[in-house]
Amino acid sequence: MPTNDLPGTVDVDRVAPIVRDLLTALGEDPDRDGLADTPLRVARWWSEFVDYDPGKLATTFEGVEIDQMVAVTGIRVWSLCEHHLLPFWADIDIAYIATDRILGLSKFARIAHQHAHRLQVQERLVTGIADQIQSLTEAESVAVVATGEHLCMTMRGIQAPAIMHSSILRGLFKHDPAARAELFSLRSRGAAA
Ligand SMILES: [Zn+2]
Repeated sequence: MPTNDLPGTVDVDRVAPIVRDLLTALGEDPDRDGLADTPLRVARWWSEFVDYDPGKLATTFEGVEIDQMVAVTGIRVWSLCEHHLLPFWADIDIAYIATDRILGLSKFARIAHQHAHRLQVQERLVTGIADQIQSLTEAESVAVVATGEHLCMTMRGIQAPAIMHSSILRGLFKHDPAARAELFSLRSRGAAA
């Protein structure tokens, strides 16, 4: 059942005329064939992106086994850079050490997508996911690692394809080299698969 964690915020009826104005300001004729439906199409896309419904996020189970590392790797999300409104994708790995609450597996991807479906920077994307995983699982040890390509680097400015890496490591992932090594070995196995 869908939740209403994120209220709908996009006013499609306001966005469409703004897109039409934008087309005019770009020197285009918004009434020409190819563009006639573009303002409404773009406004609906913004609604689809921002008003994304991640579904139910909060399913947790009482832990059966405690002190296990749980990791889900390679969750591909698309987001929009808030500085340029250009897309970026990121492959997200999420891990936590379960103590007494286990998060349903499908929730990892839903949480990652929920945080991606807004104007973002990769650092805040990673932090937001880590905070939510932490509050749902009440785990002290949480890691979120992201590898992303930003079109604002690839398409504009220096136009150099570049991959950005960012990570949040908390609890044992920060302080215990063994836990960190286990996490990064899972990541590399995921990448090789
Ligand atoms: Zn940017």
